[in-house]
Amino acid sequence: MLEIPFAFEIGGKAINPAELNDPEERELLQNIVDSIVDRVEDMKCPVHNQAPRFLCHGDSIDELSLEVLGCCDGLVDMVRNRLDI
Ligand SMILES: [Zn+2]
Repeated sequence: MLEIPFAFEIGGKAINPAELNDPEERELLQNIVDSIVDRVEDMKCPVHNQAPRFLCHGDSIDELSLEVLGCCDGLVDMVRNRLDI
């Protein structure tokens, strides 16, 4: 499976979901990753052949917003359309 880079930043701090102590929080973040990756894992920029990257950030684990990052606006728009965000 294609590895989609996915980063979390909560309260300005980078978080690795696998290192969270609370199993519920770990599952919450893993579910976010799974649901996104499921929908975009076949997507690549037709111009640069790059996969999209994601940054999920917010003040707390309950208030996360998703940011799509990519090699160019074309890829970012494609991914946002697919995810409807
Ligand atoms: Zn591109």
